[in-house]
Amino acid sequence: MRIVVLAGGIGGARFLAGVRSYAAEAGGEVTAVVNVGDDIRLHGLRICPDLDSVLYHLGGGADPERGWGRAGETWAVKEELAAYGAEPTWFGLGDRDLATHLVRTTMLDAGYPLSAVTEALCARWQPGVRLLPATDDRMETHVVVDLDGGRRAIHFQEWWVRYRGELPAHRFVFVGAESAKPAAGVLDAIGAADVVLLAPSNPVVSIAPILAVPGLREALVGGPAPVLGISPIIGGRPVRGMADRCLAALDVPCTAAAVGGMYGPRGDGGVLDGWLVDPVDDPAPVPGVRVGAAPLWMTDEAATAAMVRAALELL
Ligand code: GDP
Ligand code: CA
Repeated sequence: MRIVVLAGGIGGARFLAGVRSYAAEAGGEVTAVVNVGDDIRLHGLRICPDLDSVLYHLGGGADPERGWGRAGETWAVKEELAAYGAEPTWFGLGDRDLATHLVRTTMLDAGYPLSAVTEALCARWQPGVRLLPATDDRMETHVVVDLDGGRRAIHFQEWWVRYRGELPAHRFVFVGAESAKPAAGVLDAIGAADVVLLAPSNPVVSIAPILAVPGLREALVGGPAPVLGISPIIGGRPVRGMADRCLAALDVPCTAAAVGGMYGPRGDGGVLDGWLVDPVDDPAPVPGVRVGAAPLWMTDEAATAAMVRAALELL
């Protein structure tokens, strides 16, 4: 069974660990199409937060407590940069993590596309799934906020990390999306898939920017594989993170049913054939979509693999 998963960072990484474990048992191969809207260039380096979260988590190198970045991280370079007053100081770049960004940036500057660079990084981490960026082109999520007496757009990372998502967001803009193309391998993977899963990632800033790459949504909707989504909202709350603040900017209620409705039924502007919610949210009717319920807490890989099994039972 060929499984394609659309995923963001930490929620996506945890979900992918469960999909990997399901595929190991049931026989299957997994391709992850990962959000690059969070990507940013800092201190001359290209940072890919969501790809790195997935890479480190699946490769066994993630910090389990912090949830992002490398285990056993040290911060000497960050302290040295701060001593120079080098901006931005709000983004945590660890020493170990920096090696990844150095290798990536060197390869990108030598002309390799991000998909090829990611494959090279996977040679070390052996994530057990094929990792693809949604696009090889530059695309960044910006957030329109009121700041310093005016309305302006800031990079998603600045909104999320520096302001902790506390500045009310008017809207999210996927800068560069119009001219972006799906990365090498993405359309082939979707075309060859037996099923496509939307990870319980942030629907507004992790999954939406993937779907914003022209051709990608169309490939899902027109493709042979059923598309099944897993709710990132349980009992009206995002389990971790600030999906509620992101949904508020779109006037979408923070409920499993509303997020399912936002993804919408396949065709008709939507992508979903099935939508899996937690039992506390059942029933969560989404017109035109088959809805099922199963426990959605990703407490460990076994529990997450059971979510995958429950999603496939929707078929
Ligand atoms: P990020 O890019 O690192 O922010 O991570 P993602 O976008 O991939 O995932 C973040 C989302 O995962 C959050 O908005 C939560 O709603 C969701 N999430 C986190 N843990 C769980 C869980 O155990 N179960 C479910 N259903 N969703 C979760
Ligand atoms: Ca992210």
